[in-house]
Amino acid sequence: MYKVWIRGKNIDEDKAVVNVMSPTAQFGLNVFEGIRGYWNEDEEVLYIFKLKEHIDRLLESCKLVSISTPYTKEEIIEAIKSNIIANNFKNTDIALRVTVFADGIGSWHSVENFDMFVSPIRRKRTDINNLKGLKASISSWQRINDNILPPRAKLGANYINGRYAYLQAKADGYDVPLFLGNDGKITESSGACVFIVKNGKLITPDITSSILESITRKFIIEYAKDIGYEVEERKLDRTELYLADEVFLVGTAAEITPIVKVDKFIIGNGEVGTITKKLLKDYLDIVSGKNKKYIKYLTPIKG
Ligand code: PMP
Repeated sequence: MYKVWIRGKNIDEDKAVVNVMSPTAQFGLNVFEGIRGYWNEDEEVLYIFKLKEHIDRLLESCKLVSISTPYTKEEIIEAIKSNIIANNFKNTDIALRVTVFADGIGSWHSVENFDMFVSPIRRKRTDINNLKGLKASISSWQRINDNILPPRAKLGANYINGRYAYLQAKADGYDVPLFLGNDGKITESSGACVFIVKNGKLITPDITSSILESITRKFIIEYAKDIGYEVEERKLDRTELYLADEVFLVGTAAEITPIVKVDKFIIGNGEVGTITKKLLKDYLDIVSGKNKKYIKYLTPIKG
């Protein structure tokens, strides 16, 4: 049983309820963040990656969908810390959601009565020794865009667009979808951004390509440049994916996920790419506080 922080306190998960009459239950009106915490066994500390950036994005999502923020940035960070301590997480990696929801009776156009919950689970990082490349398909479902439902806001309802594409990809025998936007260019997957590697260069759709402004994407761009790779952010064609040397997804949940096939095209030699693997290994060292160069991006929590 986990403790969930809701409406100001940490309580048992089965007591944390949201009214069925609420716009959240009825219309999917909520904004949220998915955040990861990584256990550093040498230091006995749980490190949260880019906590402040996640809260900044949560507040921006609130602004875009006219959700008046119930708590300040500092109060949200305190709520998250208190929830991790209440759950006494030790010797484990975690994932948590911070969700701003519409409380009480209301409609899809309600502009009041918002509150927040923090819901954590134990979740292991990717096992680098057991890496599996995924098969992706270019979805026949189009990505939502800035003039329909802005992907830039991490709005619960946006994920129904992802649901259509993800379930279709699964039904067709693939692991994940990749969406095209209304301009016919590559956007992102249903819960992660995409990079290709071509001739040693990393390329990823730019932030006006109908994508969530991914925190992991931004970090991988910074890190890849730091270790000497050239990185391009620009519009990306689907055939560039087919002809790429490597393809991988990035995201808080996805971490760095290799893609070895896109539609009927084998990527590279069909194995997990060497640059992909190196980035994943380095990423896991960074987020768990083993590489001190990037320690400024980590918030340590000691129980
Ligand atoms: N795109 C979508 C649609 C997502 O849901 C996510 C996961 N939050 C991402 C990209 C990756 O974003 P981040 O790196 O901030 O987790």
